[in-house]
Amino acid sequence: MLILIFPGSIPISHCISMILIDSIDELRTKLRSEYFAGKSIGFVPTMGALHEGHASLARRSVAENDLTVVSIFVNPTQFGPGEDLDKYPRTLQADMDLLEPLGVGIIFAPGKETIYPEGESQIQFSLRTLDKMLCGAKRPGHFDGVLQVVAKLFNIVQPTRAYFGLKDFQQVVVLRTLQKELFFPLEVVPCPIIREADGLAMSSRNRYLNPEERKQALFLSTTLKKAKEMAKEGLAVSELVEMVEARLKEFSLIRLDYFEVRSGKDLSRPAVLRAGDEPRGLIAAFCGATRLIDNMELL
Ligand code: AMP
Repeated sequence: MLILIFPGSIPISHCISMILIDSIDELRTKLRSEYFAGKSIGFVPTMGALHEGHASLARRSVAENDLTVVSIFVNPTQFGPGEDLDKYPRTLQADMDLLEPLGVGIIFAPGKETIYPEGESQIQFSLRTLDKMLCGAKRPGHFDGVLQVVAKLFNIVQPTRAYFGLKDFQQVVVLRTLQKELFFPLEVVPCPIIREADGLAMSSRNRYLNPEERKQALFLSTTLKKAKEMAKEGLAVSELVEMVEARLKEFSLIRLDYFEVRSGKDLSRPAVLRAGDEPRGLIAAFCGATRLIDNMELL
């Protein structure tokens, strides 16, 4: 294989400029020649306001595929009434600046009318159990919206692999189920959670936090770490839950939405902690008005 190196040692593949596309037809035309050439397509769906967590997904996709498509679309159907749809940060230029040096080939940033030309969709997704728990129970309709947009995007991009962060653990389980049960011919690739230096999971919503909220937001990851230590010492699930609830009271700006221990395999509730069930602590909490989520493997 011949790799051309420009002065300054930048591989040529990273110098091919990234393109921004907002229409489905244009994207399909562009991708058709790639499919015919037998190229693999990596896909990273996002809502923009990108940070190092998103960048890690894009980097992995670039490393594992011939061409990477990143979508940037603030999906209205996954926001409930009173949630932050209107104020969700839109930072397209900064997002492009972050992605271009990573070797991403295409940014697909469609408008709302492109993805939902019919307005409100006839088709709704309802899961038998997976959307009745955790964030699904707390945010009714959220996973319907996620499934609507991801099913559309899978059909538009037809990727070889699609990359999702384990920060949204329940989302990964739901989307793995979508892929498997509807036979989407692609691989769902879960990627590790990227954290700030102090341990706070990176999130586009962290930018809403004022300095005091930012300090207290650290509670989510430190409490998960504490739960992990206790699980390794052999404490029971109920004791972990008690500890989390008690610790929470120390933080005036935090309001716990849920803390639960679930199997990382299928989100069932383990009666006892056993490594074989891959138990995970999953937490959601409001920090001021901002709802944050995090999770951690316990054993
Ligand atoms: P979002 O833009 O919030 O919809 O996220 C787009 C993708 O990035 C999802 O697959 C998220 O799980 C993933 N993601 C967001 N934050 C992180 C993080 N801190 N670490 C790893 N992946 C993340």
